[in-house]
Amino acid sequence: MVYEFEVTTRQNMEFVDITHKANEMVSKSGMENGVCFIFVPHTTAAVTINENADPDVVFDMLKELNKIVPIEDQYRHMEGNSAAHIKASLMGFSEQVIVHNGKLKLGTWQGIYFTEFDGPRRRKVYVKVLKG
Ligand code: ZN
Repeated sequence: MVYEFEVTTRQNMEFVDITHKANEMVSKSGMENGVCFIFVPHTTAAVTINENADPDVVFDMLKELNKIVPIEDQYRHMEGNSAAHIKASLMGFSEQVIVHNGKLKLGTWQGIYFTEFDGPRRRKVYVKVLKG
């Protein structure tokens, strides 16, 4: 069974905390112990795990990502969103988290972020939970 949910982004670049959504999918699966795979089926959005306590961490990450990959840099891709493609690959399209006692076993300060780089848009996230 593959679970799926939507994320509606509101900014061109934005990190959306999807931890609660991922936990909801784990509950739905009824799986007590195993591994949860979170997969983003897009080319200009991704997923990452990082601090969700201080929002300035996300602010700083977005700021530095824009320095590493400028919006404009004489890219060849005709669609004009090469920076978004590159940032998405830097973040990666999947995460794996241990499921313990029916919940994602994340660190105290960790959250799972859907990372939008070419928004605003309606996006999808796939979740698969494997027993183990
Ligand atoms: Zn493109």
